[in-house]
Amino acid sequence: MNGATANGPVPGDPSAPKVPSDLDCISCGLCIPTCPTWQHTGRETQSPRGRVRLMRAMREERLPADATIAQEMEDCLVCRRCESVCPAGVSFGALMEETRENLREQGFGPPRRARLLLRTILKPRRLHFGMTMLAWLQRRGWHRRFGAWLANLPAVPSQDQRASLPDFAGAHHPRVGEVWLLEGCVMPELYGRVNRGALGLLQRLGYDVRVPKPRWCCGALHAHAGDGPTARDLARKWRHQLRQVGTPDAILSTSAGCGAHLQTFDHLAPPEPGEARFADLVMDVSTFLARRENLARLQPLLQPLPEAWLPLAYDDPCHLCHGQQVRREPRALLDAIPGVHRVELERAEECCGSAGLHGMLHPESARQQLAPKLADLAQSGAATLVTGNPGCHMQWDVGQRDLPAPRPVRHLIEVLDQALGS
Ligand code: SF4
Ligand code: SF4
Repeated sequence: MNGATANGPVPGDPSAPKVPSDLDCISCGLCIPTCPTWQHTGRETQSPRGRVRLMRAMREERLPADATIAQEMEDCLVCRRCESVCPAGVSFGALMEETRENLREQGFGPPRRARLLLRTILKPRRLHFGMTMLAWLQRRGWHRRFGAWLANLPAVPSQDQRASLPDFAGAHHPRVGEVWLLEGCVMPELYGRVNRGALGLLQRLGYDVRVPKPRWCCGALHAHAGDGPTARDLARKWRHQLRQVGTPDAILSTSAGCGAHLQTFDHLAPPEPGEARFADLVMDVSTFLARRENLARLQPLLQPLPEAWLPLAYDDPCHLCHGQQVRREPRALLDAIPGVHRVELERAEECCGSAGLHGMLHPESARQQLAPKLADLAQSGAATLVTGNPGCHMQWDVGQRDLPAPRPVRHLIEVLDQALGS
């Protein structure tokens, strides 16, 4: 059981998931209207409050785990929007991961396709080979024969764009510090240009950039799918790496989902006394760049964007706005670009439907989730959609595929890179 039972973690078990096991929900219902699955179904058991009640009933052994409950939990997007409005501070994302782990141990795990994907992303070489095969299929148009989950993936970039970053890149300007830049698993395969842009940008601002190798997956998708043992094993590997290499000024992620999960590593692999805490070091690249001293160095370097890119609309990735409470920083960076015109989307904080593996496993549900946001984008008049998470990037790209005038989707780093003339 790895320290967890249907009644919660076993006290004193060092392998127990150190996630908040409280169910301090006061049943106020404030979260209900914000929940996308409740919005679609109107059912209490598809709302955060209803799910917490089910978790409580299972923990108190009033309700045995069964396929119906597992489905109610599986349908949750783990968007954590409910957390942003909860007055009792219920850590819904952590509770859902713990619940899914318990369900999985009782035989109600994710489908086989999800398990295959989770195994694949664990090994960078295996993932790289898989992406090379996908590129081959895409060139022939044969990937569509394997169903919507493969058909909905974006075009795999060329091999040179999928090359790994160097282990270390020195500061260009007088050195001001050292940071780690995390490559991620999917990010270098599909959006390597974003990581390369971040690396160059940090160098220009005076940072030595270390890219941790081996390139462990962070385990965010495993934790979401209830594979706690793998998530804890990966967190321990990262803890070991931090011990070996030494503590940087910051650990930066270009993927909102990975960043949010890395901030939980102190629970998954607790530090020894006196050791650095991941929660103090890990941050989204936007948070770091928007620090006063970094923005002061960055702003004079920025040039106006091409007219065709404007206006910009920023869409908040769930694991940045709800998972890390980061909303202001990406907007501040965009607004620092001379002559920029930025518009707000009405539903910027609503989930786009990507939601970890959800978009791949349930493409129709993901499409329905994105539809009102696509209407928002059209109404806003934006010419470019800006995001900060690979899953959202894919979802927006794929969701616009059949539209007559799709808007280019760009990571915040790509926009800054353009403004730097890189
Ligand atoms: S995480 Fe999102 S989908 Fe899940 S219960 Fe909360 S608001 Fe609803
Ligand atoms: S907002 Fe928080 S306390 Fe209120 S019902 Fe939802 S989870 Fe419970």
